[in-house]
Amino acid sequence: MLKSLLLSSILLVSQSTKSDRTVDNFYNEGNFSNAFSPYAISPNFRELKHKLEGYGFVVNIAIPPDYQLTPQRQDFQRRRVRKPYGLLNASNKSIWINPIVFELGISQPVLIHETIHAAQFCQGKGNLQVLELDIEPIKQAQPFFKRYVNTYSQQIEREAYVVQTQTNSYELAVSLLDKYCQ
Ligand SMILES: [Zn+2]
Repeated sequence: MLKSLLLSSILLVSQSTKSDRTVDNFYNEGNFSNAFSPYAISPNFRELKHKLEGYGFVVNIAIPPDYQLTPQRQDFQRRRVRKPYGLLNASNKSIWINPIVFELGISQPVLIHETIHAAQFCQGKGNLQVLELDIEPIKQAQPFFKRYVNTYSQQIEREAYVVQTQTNSYELAVSLLDKYCQ
């Protein structure tokens, strides 16, 4: 269970918007729960998604486009999944949730992770900035952010993994989103 919470979620700080449109709304949300039954979108997921959209983020349930991903250490890159489970593109406030997370049963922690990046985006007014939360990451979460090469990415990811692995992660993510994006 814990392992499933510790996801490889890739952050992208800025990139061109050109490739976004090519896979935008690849899956129609209306048909989505049928298409991926029995892994329907949970009420919590739907609520958080709508909340993000209320703050101007575009949430795509689709395979993330081929961005140039944040540099990671070699040993992690070898093990990395082909496509990230979630991604936030700060250049156009777009979030991508890979449909495979519904099959894997990890859609909520992935969306929570990206929600923290969204709060960081609001805090930095367009550039992701750490929220400086007073919460320590669980030990098992460390490899997931330490794999990032530069310190800035490590800090940004650390915070997302810290929240994602809390027992009250959903409530925490919602309150942080409200706090920084309102
Ligand atoms: Zn991340």
